[in-house]
Amino acid sequence: MSEITLGIIGGGQLGSMLAIAAKKLNVKTVIFCDDIDAPAQNFCNQFIAGSYENNEKIIEFVNEVDMVTYEFENIPFETLNEINKLKPVLPKPSVNRLIQHRLAEKDFVNKLNIRTTRYVSIEKKSDIDALEDFLPGILKTTTLGYDGKGQYPIKSGDELNLLNIDFSKGFILEKLVKLKKEISIIITRFSNNKYEIYEPIENTHEDQILKYSKIPAEINKKIFDQSKEWAMLIAEELKYIGTLCVEYFIDRNDNLYVNEIAPRVHNSGHLTINAFNVSQFENHVRAVCGLDQVPLKKISNAKMINLLGDQIIHYRNIEKFKNNEFFFDYLKKDIKEKRKMGHITTLI
Ligand code: ADP
Ligand code: MG
Repeated sequence: MSEITLGIIGGGQLGSMLAIAAKKLNVKTVIFCDDIDAPAQNFCNQFIAGSYENNEKIIEFVNEVDMVTYEFENIPFETLNEINKLKPVLPKPSVNRLIQHRLAEKDFVNKLNIRTTRYVSIEKKSDIDALEDFLPGILKTTTLGYDGKGQYPIKSGDELNLLNIDFSKGFILEKLVKLKKEISIIITRFSNNKYEIYEPIENTHEDQILKYSKIPAEINKKIFDQSKEWAMLIAEELKYIGTLCVEYFIDRNDNLYVNEIAPRVHNSGHLTINAFNVSQFENHVRAVCGLDQVPLKKISNAKMINLLGDQIIHYRNIEKFKNNEFFFDYLKKDIKEKRKMGHITTLI
């Protein structure tokens, strides 16, 4: 069999974990990233640093690989589209364009008759005054947000006036859901009606950043089934290839809402590395490289803790972990407050 080389755009921890999974499958990886210090360079076969608009570098990257995937969604559509003319990009660039825009994403989900939070597009400050209905809410940039970045909780129009926001960028205002729980579904779609789907994962956020994930999620049967069904419907409708994550809210009346979709492997799925026979990363590589689908089997219940900022230091100093503990250090060069530096998964 000829050897496959997978190109990955983005060199953070998700890129590292994709590269590790690929190695296990004898798939070579070339990572392209705009950060010269990208941690994933420690795990891939080849690393190319360059801006996502640098044509020369992009061509250099494309020439090295058989197909291209990505580990984060904020990549210019034009870049993915141009690459796709030369080598297949999976998931498709059009899927990424849809999902990287919060408004387009929510419109798409609603068209499938799937519930989302109530939301409205905001183009200028005065738009907010007329929208008492959506308050208290969260104002979010329509693009480029992650880990709570570009989000402003607001209770009143007055509060907004105190913020100095540049409305030339697009925003949406989302009604705040009174959260009981958050869960996510990770699904890998291989082709029409062929997928592997993980059980719902229960997630706890602190300051809008994921802190804990665990399986099993403590949810009722209806939510268990509906969250999986909706994720399958979304993946089918997008004709998605690869691993996708759907983040959900559950309110105090046990209503389920799609919060957002991530067209990529996801932080809440890190526990799949140790808790299943095939991780979300391996499944992604299998799907985008056209390798065999392996039936998913659960090995254990599990919980995962994200190590943010200097929380990593304590774990770096532990000499021996327990047999059921798996520590991952992302090898990021600088420790920054709230930055995801590593995680620890415990099988329970
Ligand atoms: P990001 O792209 O940063 O992950 P999200 O929209 O997923 O943005 O928001 C991050 C977290 O903020 C959510 O997981 C949730 O805990 C909280 N949050 C966001 N929007 C709402 C909302 N409308 N109601 C309640 N909580 C919210
Ligand atoms: Mg989110």
